[in-house]
Formats: sequence, C-alpha cells, structure tokens
Amino acid sequence: MSDIQINIINKTYPAIGQATSHTAIANLNLSLKSGEFICLVGPSGCGKTTLLNIIADLDHDYQGSISLSEQSSRPKIGYIFQNPRLLPWRTVRENIELVVEKTLSSTIIDNLLELMQLTPSQHIYPERLSLGMSRRVSITRAFAVDPDLLLMDEPFVSLDAPTARQVRALLLSLWQQRPHTVLFVTHDLREAIALADRLIFLSASPMSIISEIRVPILRSERHDEVAIETFRQQLLNEYPAIKQLL
Ligand code: ADP
Ligand code: MG
Repeated sequence: MSDIQINIINKTYPAIGQATSHTAIANLNLSLKSGEFICLVGPSGCGKTTLLNIIADLDHDYQGSISLSEQSSRPKIGYIFQNPRLLPWRTVRENIELVVEKTLSSTIIDNLLELMQLTPSQHIYPERLSLGMSRRVSITRAFAVDPDLLLMDEPFVSLDAPTARQVRALLLSLWQQRPHTVLFVTHDLREAIALADRLIFLSASPMSIISEIRVPILRSERHDEVAIETFRQQLLNEYPAIKQLL
C-alpha cells in the first residue's frame, strides 16, 4: 500500500432549505504514510465525516483529488461509521459475512470473532447486543475486508469508559497484527494520544489543518495513563488553541 495524498480544494454543500450554500472544507492538504495511525481532532460540525465520505468514495461532489494508490488496483477500505449500522435481520456472523468474498475461508472470520470476544454471540441478532458489542461487530466487519485503509468515525462515542478501553486495546492489537493505514476521528484527546502516531487538529468550518503533532510515547507505554495525561497537559500548555477544539 502506498502513501495517500488528499487534496481538497473545496467541498460545498448546496443551499437546500437554507439561505446560502455551506463551504465545509477549503484547501485541505493531507498526506498519510502507509501503515500510519492518524487521529483527526476537531469540533463538531467542522467537516470530519464529510472528509471520510470523500476518501471512501461515497461523495464525489467536491473539487480536488484523492490519490490512494500508485498501483492500478484500488486499495481496500474499511469504514466504521459513527453508528454501527448492522442489518437487524442478519445475525452477528451474517453481518460480517456480507462484506467478505464468498471464497474467504470461514476460519478467518472465526479468528476475528474470537479476537473480538464475539464467538459466543455470533448467532444472535443485533437487537440483543449491547452498544459495546455492536461496536465490536462493526469493527470486526471492517477488519474482515482486510483493509489497506481503515476509516473510523468517532467509533467509541457513548461507550462507557471500561468498554471503550477494552475495544481500543482490541483495535490496537488488530492493527499491530495487520498493519494498515488508519484515519480515526475523535473528540477525546486522551483517546487520540493513546492511539495515534500523529495527531491532526482541525479548525471549525470551513475545515482546515491547524496543527499536526507526532505522539512521542512508545507503543509499549500507551496503556500508561500517567504518560498520556502528562503529554496531554504539555500539548494544552503549548497549544492553548486546542482547548477550543475539544
Ligand atoms: P463533523 O463530522 O465534523 O461533525 P460534518 O462533516 O458532518 O461534520 O459536517 C460539516 C458541515 O457540513 C456541518 O456544518 C454540517 O451541517 C454540514 N453538512 C453535512 N452534511 C450536509 C448535507 N448533506 N447537506 C448540507 N450540509 C451538510
Ligand atoms: Mg461527524
């Protein structure tokens, strides 16, 4: 997988039911290194979901370009939406099987279910799942496509703290087992520091990059809440403008 170049000159939503059109993104240049874990941090409504939709090829109505690959084949993208979006009439396992090639060995799904601690729940329907379990299913589904690029849109919002910690740890272990580029949107600076190689802070609408900061904490120390809190305080002291984005 090669590096990804994102260049959005302009993304405007037309004026439907509103007096004026709305420029969501202007002059955004971003380059993602292969295998890098990037967290996007920005205020609500600044255009983060809009950006992920453009990268995922769900929205073509913009000026600019997204260069995903130097090879002729398009990289595989896993997209974890803010809401799990599971099909209610399919079981956990069937929701995952839907996105994978028919020829994929069922052992791969078995292994993913096991890793995400979903094996005992694989034959139940989404209505019986807790929110934490539904989110784990949606993460498993995104990993089942074996993505080169994983887009995650505030995937842990409204999870209680212990569940969020558990799902975050599972995500990191999957990422370390299958390295791929991750673009992860969050409001939570501690979460961003715990996960990212690089933090990108975004301004309110129209969205542009305010600052990019590399997280210097070793991967082996990311579970250390003191190290995370110390770096968070250091960031807030050095860049007071970040407080307004959270
Ligand atoms: P974020 O994900 O950062 O909260 P969004 O990308 O959802 O922000 O939205 C960015 C801006 O674009 C917001 O002001 C939002 O109201 C507007 N917007 C999003 N989707 C639409 C749409 N389909 N039509 C018009 N405006 C939209
Ligand atoms: Mg959003």
